[in-house]
Amino acid sequence: MPLDWRSRLIHPKAAAPAGFRSLATPTFRGSTTLFESAGTVRIHWDQTQTPYGYGLYGTPTTLELAARIAELEGGKHCFIVPGGQAAIALISFAFTGSGAHVLLPESAYRPNNQLANRVLARFGVEAELYDPLIGAGIAGLIRSNTRLIWCESPGSVTMEVQDVPAIAAAARRAGVVTALDNTYAAGVLLDAFAHGADVTMQALTKYVGGHSDLLLGSVTVRDEAHYQALGDTHSLLGMAVSPDDCSLALRGLQTLAVRLRQLEETTLAVAGWLREQPEIDTLLHPAFPECPGHDTWARDFTGSASVFSVVFKPSIQPDAIIRLVDALALFPVGYSWGGVTSLAMPYFGLQRRYHPHSGKLVRFNIGLERADDLIADLERGFAVLRG
Ligand SMILES: *Cc1c(COP(=O)(O)O)cnc(C)c1O
Repeated sequence: MPLDWRSRLIHPKAAAPAGFRSLATPTFRGSTTLFESAGTVRIHWDQTQTPYGYGLYGTPTTLELAARIAELEGGKHCFIVPGGQAAIALISFAFTGSGAHVLLPESAYRPNNQLANRVLARFGVEAELYDPLIGAGIAGLIRSNTRLIWCESPGSVTMEVQDVPAIAAAARRAGVVTALDNTYAAGVLLDAFAHGADVTMQALTKYVGGHSDLLLGSVTVRDEAHYQALGDTHSLLGMAVSPDDCSLALRGLQTLAVRLRQLEETTLAVAGWLREQPEIDTLLHPAFPECPGHDTWARDFTGSASVFSVVFKPSIQPDAIIRLVDALALFPVGYSWGGVTSLAMPYFGLQRRYHPHSGKLVRFNIGLERADDLIADLERGFAVLRG
């Protein structure tokens, strides 16, 4: 029976020729995914075991990205989620519940801390901040109801490098899950599983995306029980991701190594220059000895990345620092990092109990500009501050 043209819009006979092969992973879009027949309908979140059942649980594009991240990080299973913060939320919801106690380093990404204290707290979870340099001393904070210990190394903004192996060993002895936010290391500059983490996550938004144009996160595990706990929670939180974003992340992976190498080199040059300026009290970059936990960085990491902070001397006024930052032409002010553009972000009045500082801190992200141009720009900025 010939179809009306309006029905043919939906059920065409026309199709492209077969046989196309490309180096790029196809972008498969789909909320509905089709079953072979009515008799074969089965639905489960684990699309690596069951036929594709629903777009929420993954498409070949999202699952290819997941498989590649798991491979790169030396994990067995990976979930791709809408952002780094979604990865943090997934881990928190999968491994905690009413009555649970969670330990977070005081240098944790702030929304991680806020999720624990503003949302999980409403569900009866108690969060406690610990000294990021506590190392094996974490054992003294573990209670019978401790379910999850977060590590983030180096920490957000203040860059303390944590002794992840010592913390993870103490957690393992007590049967507690260790989760590592491995965003700084792009999942590669620190081998999370070799250093004892049970669960590792990163904001793919940063280095894997690499161009400041997408938000994605990943959660990777080795252990089967952890995989089941995450999968069950993941499927019910509705954390759908766009295959277009996954496609961009797959492209980003191909250039990750060369970008990281160049970013490290330029960042070391710019940070080294900043360190010499008389207005700077401390450079917080893990490859420099004054960074808290520098020796641990040297032991555990295979390189450094593009984000670091400087702490100004107490005598420098915040408005002078603002004038400096606003005078920069190559450092627009914006959150996030890991892209091709250098950025600056003032953090004033940041309260830290264990590792206090003057509260006059600026975080820099270094991009793919030439180091000499960035330093010349900073020279102009410091001239304004001094003027
Ligand atoms: C940016 C960031 C996140 C959150 O990632 P989004 O993709 O922006 O949600 C989590 N952890 C760290 C350490 C980050 O820097």
